[in-house]
Amino acid sequence: MLQVPSIGKLLILALVLGGIWLFYKAKAGREQQRNSQGKGPSGGGAAKAARKTDGSSVDMVQCPACQAYIPSGTNCSCGSGRS
Ligand SMILES: [Zn+2]
Repeated sequence: MLQVPSIGKLLILALVLGGIWLFYKAKAGREQQRNSQGKGPSGGGAAKAARKTDGSSVDMVQCPACQAYIPSGTNCSCGSGRS
């Protein structure tokens, strides 16, 4: 005859399966977090870009012609960047 498993056995089975599922889920989440912190462009890159847009710490470069400090990526007013 077919034996019906007891509620206790079913509960234990559910707890074990749930524990395994939670374990793998936490493990995958940790690995994903570690990857994004290590070399992902979303980690340090976003923070650096946000700092750059507030205007207080713009990268400055020295003009080779007049030695004036100008924001990088822009042409100096002395005309050295033009060709
Ligand atoms: Zn210049």
